[in-house]
Amino acid sequence: MSDCLFCRIVKGEVSATIVYEDETLVAFEDISPRAPTHVLIVPRQHVETLNDLTPNDKELVGEMIWRSAAIAKERGIADSGYRTVFNCNRGAGQTVFHIHLHLLGGRALTWPPG
Ligand code: 5GP
Ligand code: ZN
Repeated sequence: MSDCLFCRIVKGEVSATIVYEDETLVAFEDISPRAPTHVLIVPRQHVETLNDLTPNDKELVGEMIWRSAAIAKERGIADSGYRTVFNCNRGAGQTVFHIHLHLLGGRALTWPPG
């Protein structure tokens, strides 16, 4: 979608600090990090919210989670602990309507989230 921020980052039209990319996913640093590690894992394909996933997207979501764990290992936060979050819709804090997995770590994280 031409007016979607994350589609524009995926296409290279908006700059971001890319930490990983392949034919399916792009991962980049969050512009407003909430923890020492705050990476967003985004599919190249535009999907607005988790509610819009179809059975065909199961592998895609698995790739996103797998990649978050790989990045956590690379960053050295896998053993201390990290959090992965999908916010779905405004009531949960979603502000960019192109699904993305937040990877947060590098500090103690409280539970439950606000
Ligand atoms: P949400 O609130 O939708 O779950 O997460 C959206 C995330 O995108 C936020 O953490 C926000 O800081 C991040 N974000 C918003 N605009 C940009 C941008 O232009 N570049 C990058 N790298 N991150 C962004
Ligand atoms: Zn998009």
